[in-house]
Amino acid sequence: MTLLTRIIVTVILVAVSAFFLSASGQPEVHVLIPVCAFVSLFTSLFMIFNLLPIKLYQRIFLGLLLGGIVGLVWGESILLFEPVGIVFIKLIKMVVVPLVFASLLVGTASMQDIKKLGRLGIRTILFYMVSTAIAVTLGLMIANLLSPGSRIPDQLQVELGQNYSAEPGNKLDALDKNSPVDLLLNIIPENPLNAMAEGQMLQVIFFALMAGIALTYVLDDRKKNILLFFDGVSEAMIKMVQMIMRLAPYGVFALIAAVIGRYGSEIIVGLIGYFITTLLALLIHVILFNSLVVRFWTNVSVGRFWRGISQALVVAFSSSSSSATLPVTMECAQDNLDVRPEVASFVLPLGSTINMDGTAIFQGVSAIFIATVYGIDLTLMDQVTIVLTATLASIGTAGAPQVGIIMLTLVLETIGIPLEGIALILGVERFLDMARTMVNVTSDLSCACFINRQEV
Ligand code: ASP
Repeated sequence: MTLLTRIIVTVILVAVSAFFLSASGQPEVHVLIPVCAFVSLFTSLFMIFNLLPIKLYQRIFLGLLLGGIVGLVWGESILLFEPVGIVFIKLIKMVVVPLVFASLLVGTASMQDIKKLGRLGIRTILFYMVSTAIAVTLGLMIANLLSPGSRIPDQLQVELGQNYSAEPGNKLDALDKNSPVDLLLNIIPENPLNAMAEGQMLQVIFFALMAGIALTYVLDDRKKNILLFFDGVSEAMIKMVQMIMRLAPYGVFALIAAVIGRYGSEIIVGLIGYFITTLLALLIHVILFNSLVVRFWTNVSVGRFWRGISQALVVAFSSSSSSATLPVTMECAQDNLDVRPEVASFVLPLGSTINMDGTAIFQGVSAIFIATVYGIDLTLMDQVTIVLTATLASIGTAGAPQVGIIMLTLVLETIGIPLEGIALILGVERFLDMARTMVNVTSDLSCACFINRQEV
């Protein structure tokens, strides 16, 4: 087919999909209409993605853009396609546990020098703690400066409060009131297989590290067999990620269309001040902090860094989960940024569970915003407490969608801001979650490049 024919076929297909999409939004339609909408839309997407010989990450961006447009135009009827997005996310999640376990075990066991591992661990954890503390401080500073809470009309507060109580599965139910000691004790799994089955990442990481260290003491020929086996597993998992990523343009399209279709753009308008302040703080953090770290303390140029991590960012944005993004994050680090496998397999899984710069920024801005709306003045001491709590809480938080909200309740509770205030922000939370997850992943990747240069 020549390019012109393909363009004509694509345009016809797009028109057909638009027709079926509009028809499937009508009440009481024949079951075949949504089926036709589904088939014609995905065939058009296939044609669009293959119209020009573009790279995979460009296709993913295109999927993101088209998903946004389709979600805005067709609203809730687009939810029909959400399962495609869910399939994509589930496939990536499927790889997380075996990939992390196998690669971390091989990485640790082949390090030989246990001192080196200790150095690597301390540096990584220090980097994560410091960057999270900087992030939450930045969030607080910007929110203090712009004070977005002072512009919320009373009427909107009431409306948002009502929306919140109507939300299915009120997020506060999930609040886990663990003490910091419990949190640390919980890192040690009683049964490693259970930890794997439940996807308890910190526990899996802990066990893989211990097993890797123990393996260094095992006789050479036996160790070699085990390492060969797990090395093979880890390589196969990475290949699997590459296969799954071919689905990414379609998965990302479906996920974004569903989010925009479900929530619409209205809610954002009401909370625009808060929304923009948070986005601004996130942006300033990645530009100032992450880009500077990359520029001065790593071997990659800033341009190469951003190009190299773009696939991971799109997946983070559409999945809202740094853990689910992990396999892609690891692939980007090793293939595009030349991070050595033993560094990537240690720094990145750990980062996806304990390093949450974006979430910390969100906490800072939200705490100030909610306090202002409720007329509470936060002292300097309160703000220092926010920095400490948010930094520590980030350790015990899984990189999963909306977990930041649970951490926020912890922060608010510590300084006595009414938890009901969360109702104010839940409407836009979904979008902010997507943005802050990108920042979380960016920070993990900048740390990987930083450590990669340190540990030669
Ligand atoms: N969704 C975020 C992540 O996975 C965590 C959060 O802020 O809710 O990194």
